[in-house]
Amino acid sequence: MTKLINGKEFADKLCDKLASEVLSLHSQGVEPCIAVILVGDDPASHVYVKNKIRRCEQVHIRSLEFRFEDTISEQALLEKIEDLNGDSKVHGILVQLPLPEHINDSAIIAAISPAKDVDGFHKESAGALMLGQDGFVPCTPLGSLMLLGDVLPTLSGLHAVIVGRSNIVGKPMASLLLAKNCTVTIAHSRTQNLPDVCKQADILVAAVGKPELIRGGWVKPGAVVIDVGINRVMVNDAPKLKGDVCFDEVKDIASAITPVPGGVGPMTIACLMYNTVEAARKQAG
Ligand code: NAD
Repeated sequence: MTKLINGKEFADKLCDKLASEVLSLHSQGVEPCIAVILVGDDPASHVYVKNKIRRCEQVHIRSLEFRFEDTISEQALLEKIEDLNGDSKVHGILVQLPLPEHINDSAIIAAISPAKDVDGFHKESAGALMLGQDGFVPCTPLGSLMLLGDVLPTLSGLHAVIVGRSNIVGKPMASLLLAKNCTVTIAHSRTQNLPDVCKQADILVAAVGKPELIRGGWVKPGAVVIDVGINRVMVNDAPKLKGDVCFDEVKDIASAITPVPGGVGPMTIACLMYNTVEAARKQAG
């Protein structure tokens, strides 16, 4: 029978554990703190930030929210980050993406101190992950790996196919699975015969942003399927979230699958908490 991978439940358990670790840090005089920067009025970004701040409260992490109009200059944003880099009470800095077009995302991410890069997007963090060195791992792939570890006794030798090659999901996911001794294939928009490539996967990770792209016939019986996609679609005039995997077709073919919502999404925020606690612990020595 197919296992439904309950990311919400896993994330709640992880956050309970982190909450007691944070209380223990408090008793040692360390108060983990994250600064969240939000630019403009993109509704989805506001929802993401609200959810992150709510989780911080549950985990007793102090959160500072800085909101700016979308007219803010890149220079002003860089100066804010520089201030936060120098503030020893702030352990993690998160800049909610996307940023307005006149601001260069890469320059902003590069300005965050790698020690406070709890999103794991800085090139130093990306390089460390690639080289198998210590550093912050982007939250979505980290959460996906935790879910995989929960359903598979070992990942070693399994063929993992990742659909999507973004810097925040596909590429770091590939590095993580390679480090676990998977044979890794990265598929993308130019991949030929995508259904055949997917069908070879023991582990199939979909991070594309195309609702229900992955069909039942693309999945090897018994594969574990991690659906990272979050797509807002209208169903019978009502907004609904859909993954990149056609859940109804795949659910009886895979041995385990993450639902959308309630799969990878909650793990992303839980792993942000995890990285922030790690950042505080490291900075406190
Ligand atoms: P992205 O747009 O940066 O990258 C998408 C990737 O998909 C690209 O590498 C592209 O080559 C590939 N692609 C596009 N069309 C394709 C096709 N037809 N066939 C094969 N590959 C194709 O997206 P992203 O930031 O990596 O996000 C991917 C999805 O994951 C989105 O739905 C996003 O909302 C979701 N997401 C979810 C979480 C979470 O917390 N669950 C976090 C980040 C992203």
